[in-house]
Amino acid sequence: MKAIQMVDLHSQYENIKNEINSGIQEVLDTCTFIKGGKVNVFQKHLEEYLNVKHVIPVGNGTDALQIALMSLGLKRGDEVITPTFTFIATVEVIALLGLTPIFVDVDYDTFNISTEAIKKAISPKTKAIIPVHLFGQNANMEEILAIAKQHNLFVVEDSCQSIGAEYTFSNGVTKKSGCIGDIGCTSFFPSKNLGCYGDGGAIFTNNDSLAEKMRAIANHGMVVRYYHDFIGVNSRLDSIQAAILDVKLKSLNNYIQNRQQAAEFYTNAFADNKYIKTPIVEKNTTHVYHQYTLKINGFDRNLLQEKLKAKGIPSMIYYPIPLHLQKAYKSEHYKKGDFPIAESLSNSVLSLPMHTELDLEQLTYITNTVNDILK
Ligand SMILES: *Cc1c(COP(=O)(O)O)cnc(C)c1O
Repeated sequence: MKAIQMVDLHSQYENIKNEINSGIQEVLDTCTFIKGGKVNVFQKHLEEYLNVKHVIPVGNGTDALQIALMSLGLKRGDEVITPTFTFIATVEVIALLGLTPIFVDVDYDTFNISTEAIKKAISPKTKAIIPVHLFGQNANMEEILAIAKQHNLFVVEDSCQSIGAEYTFSNGVTKKSGCIGDIGCTSFFPSKNLGCYGDGGAIFTNNDSLAEKMRAIANHGMVVRYYHDFIGVNSRLDSIQAAILDVKLKSLNNYIQNRQQAAEFYTNAFADNKYIKTPIVEKNTTHVYHQYTLKINGFDRNLLQEKLKAKGIPSMIYYPIPLHLQKAYKSEHYKKGDFPIAESLSNSVLSLPMHTELDLEQLTYITNTVNDILK
């Protein structure tokens, strides 16, 4: 059996090596490393894939979130609502821009931002909501858009884990993750579902004026060369990464399918295990399984992790500490116990190996081992 890894980028590369290598070689031959043709080509292909008007390639997913927030004309002290159970980047950019993060709890079933909690957190200072489509499943966007409309709020989606996931509204309209709210942000970090071989990210929007502004902000706030209309940043996707992403984008739907098949295998294998709750997928969204995350109850989660490790099975805890309890974001507003669901999830979640190259032998070994320990 091939060694089991959380993410097996090497086996994936072996399968697309020739195309990747020749894409990189093309960039080397033309020596257009920044803003070259490859970036434009990839941008266009991603716009087509997502069915969105504007894709703005940037340096990474965190930059994408920052530039998105910078484009909204918010002022110091304005409040932005975001889930407490997620990766740190979302709240980091809110804080860096002098905005006030307002944490809310998540739904136990989906790990995603609770719409009831959003409603309770809205104040006259609230200006935006950043739902995070955690682990690859879209948040309840229909409800979030309705709340945003009622209170005149921007919705910036953090789609760093959910590229390609589809959301279907009750009227039958289907949209891709990140193309539902005002702005969507994604990351091309190597282990993400569409990953490059370094850092990369992108912003999505159907709004022409926000697109123009974000393009400028990502380029030193410059519309006409050396005339700076906004305070900007320097954030760009380089041509080598774009060449790699353009090859991998063609396989994205297959990659998603591989992940979904692995998830189905896991879910079936754990169906009767009383210590395990497998992921729940809401009916109006697909799940692209950036992570396959179990909830472990009635057994020491950390002990399970140790036992798996001894058997050659890696696992990860995403995320061990909710954001409102992180040292850097300590404030008089939040204390332990404020967000009981997020806090209990942090103590019970365990993510199993999930990538595009898991084979039947590995999946069988992993599930048998887990069921053997938890019996
Ligand atoms: C990966 C990730 C980010 C940040 O992306 P980078 O490219 O690493 O900056 C932001 N939010 C979420 C939910 C992520 O998973």
